Amino acid sequence: MNTTDFDRFFLNDSEAGIQNFQQIILETEALLSRFYKNNSDAYTGVFPTEIEKEINELSLTSENGEESGKVLNDVLEKVVKNSIHVSHPTSMGHLHCPPLISAIAAELIIGTLNQSMDSWDQSSTATYLEERLIKWVSNKLVLPSSADGTFTSGGTQSNYMGLLLARDFFCDKRWNWNVKAQGLPADSHKLRILCSEDAHFTVKKSAFQLGLGEQAVITVETDEHKKMNTAKLVQEIQRLKNGGLIPMCVVATAGTTDFGSIDSISEIAEIAQNNGLWLHVDAAYGGALLLSKKHFHKLAGIEQADSITIDFHKQFYQPISCGAFFVKDKTNFHYIAHHADYLNPENDEEDGLVHLVSKSVQTTRRFDALKLFMSLRIVGEKSFENMIDYTLHLAKQAAGVMDKKPHIEVCNINPEINAIVFRYSDAAPGSLNELNTYIYKRILHSGTALVAKTKVKGEVFLKFTLLNPRTTIVDIEDILHTISQFALEYENRGITQ
Ligand SMILES: *Cc1c(COP(=O)(O)O)cnc(C)c1O
Repeated sequence: MNTTDFDRFFLNDSEAGIQNFQQIILETEALLSRFYKNNSDAYTGVFPTEIEKEINELSLTSENGEESGKVLNDVLEKVVKNSIHVSHPTSMGHLHCPPLISAIAAELIIGTLNQSMDSWDQSSTATYLEERLIKWVSNKLVLPSSADGTFTSGGTQSNYMGLLLARDFFCDKRWNWNVKAQGLPADSHKLRILCSEDAHFTVKKSAFQLGLGEQAVITVETDEHKKMNTAKLVQEIQRLKNGGLIPMCVVATAGTTDFGSIDSISEIAEIAQNNGLWLHVDAAYGGALLLSKKHFHKLAGIEQADSITIDFHKQFYQPISCGAFFVKDKTNFHYIAHHADYLNPENDEEDGLVHLVSKSVQTTRRFDALKLFMSLRIVGEKSFENMIDYTLHLAKQAAGVMDKKPHIEVCNINPEINAIVFRYSDAAPGSLNELNTYIYKRILHSGTALVAKTKVKGEVFLKFTLLNPRTTIVDIEDILHTISQFALEYENRGITQ
């Protein structure tokens, strides 16, 4: 045993290391290129039990190492083939985007450099590149110069951070109470967070994780376009106050997960201001409209938010994970800062050293900023804008086509972003839920497309999320045709039973 035996496992200046690196990367590239060249479906349609069986048959480890080509072949056969192919134009189920090639390449560099964003001595250049991208997005959102932010693992973490800061800020200002030092104050069970009934479930999840309980979340009715009814918001705030409860925060949603609806942020900002509430804007989905001159106005008022969630792994076409969290006043980050002697001692910051751990709920953290940077440079802002504008146009066009079909019921004929909620409606009312569930499963296991299933007022509906700028109206027509065929199949199945 000699330490040079390990050379080939790592990227380093040895011949063995370089050669092994090139070989595995080239083999991986060849595998993916070959696969994408020949792949024609969004999914093979294989059922979960069969996949589980195949995965269980894989040998998980090897005693003495195996040829990378052999392992990659297993990966191709057992993992890649039966994966959900998110880059396929008929993959339109969830808010799950095709990743940009520029970002895929960046992932290789991110993994190779393996910088960690917690302390400057683990991310020397990465620290400053992330800071510049945060500033770039802040400027696009027209946030004041006091604003700041951090990359996060996604919307869940960003929403959690928004509500965490809202809670600690409120307790500090209202009761002069330091939650970080003292835990929750006696009256914390009276604190309330308002959001629309169509807000993301992570608002409730954050509330219980923050020790406020789900009871802290009061949902406000939405109007027929699934936007928060702001008159009802005012009423709810008053009702809570009258009942001795303490509203502390309102969450506006810019792009609800099902409908893509955008609350009136300006109106909500004014109500928040009048009532001394923290305003958090969950723009995980809709935040991408900052890339579009034509649609940016839909986010009007976002610059007044105390905190903002944006996901780059949705409509910015970044591989998972990639998100960000912004605050209007960067001093509020002190509510989550903790100084560890080994990582970010206080005197370092006095010396001007930047340790991003002070702004994050994570410690070790990925250099995801690099992939957004490489994408913005290689793809260019104009193409981002064209992709956003095209998918919004496609959604409008598709909703129009669908609305004309007598057997399709569209919930949002004028989609605000690019999600369309609909169902097949040509059947006896009592069988619609079963019929649409049947259609959903048949589409999934036929492999022709990936659509999502959701509920509207307790009824089963289907959903297209048109993130992919390569999807065409012909793809939509084809899926609608397939849906009609499966509906017919369902009816006939009823007869023969
Ligand atoms: C996707 C989404 C989230 C959750 O974000 P993750 O990145 O999945 O953690 C939160 N809010 C909204 C509106 C979303 O669309």
